[in-house]
Amino acid sequence: MSTIDALKDSLINAGRILAREGQGDLIFGHVTARLPGDDEHFLMKPHNFGLEEITPDNLITVNIEGEKVAGASARHIEVFIHSEILRVRRDVGAVVHTHAPYAVAFSALGREIQGIGHEGAMFHAGIPVFTETADLIVDQARGKAVARSLADSNVLIMRNHGIVTTGRTIEEATVLALYLERACRAQLLLEGCGGAIHVCSHDDAVAKAGRILPQSPRVFDYLVRRVSSESR
Ligand SMILES: [Zn+2]
Repeated sequence: MSTIDALKDSLINAGRILAREGQGDLIFGHVTARLPGDDEHFLMKPHNFGLEEITPDNLITVNIEGEKVAGASARHIEVFIHSEILRVRRDVGAVVHTHAPYAVAFSALGREIQGIGHEGAMFHAGIPVFTETADLIVDQARGKAVARSLADSNVLIMRNHGIVTTGRTIEEATVLALYLERACRAQLLLEGCGGAIHVCSHDDAVAKAGRILPQSPRVFDYLVRRVSSESR
């Protein structure tokens, strides 16, 4: 399999996994990955399709200005989340943006994420929150503002909107999106009970994150096997 075909395969699986994990929002939410050896172009999920409906043929190619340069399908108007992050974060190879329901609900609480379980511990240092608008990100100026809010983090909560996660690979960004949503879900459960009484210590959180985050490729492979077995 060529490098580009392998990348398309990873994007297709990322979409299926995110949808399976409840992060699909009808046809909204998107995944992108920078083309190998080409900082200025990236592959993107097409508009008009659900996350689980990405195919090698409906993926589109977009340049760093947010313009579609190849592919027959329509482009998401929120492309600028991706193009502006990829423009300034050369360490980032892939971006996930979803309207993850627990994260959206959590964002409206205005609370800091807590180290309740393993997932929350991974974000114990704090998660940046984009508050400039709850509207869609439809131009470069707003995309740049999202990239500024993300700064050097790999996760961002967009208040009353959704999440952004990044990674060197789409596998890393996808697994991070799952962890962030689970962290928000755990805290929402507890907020309904009056909030957490015990949270993970800083030292334990650092240790746990150091053990779990490097496992992302293995976690992604498992998730691929799971969605594949379920679709048989
Ligand atoms: Zn959005």
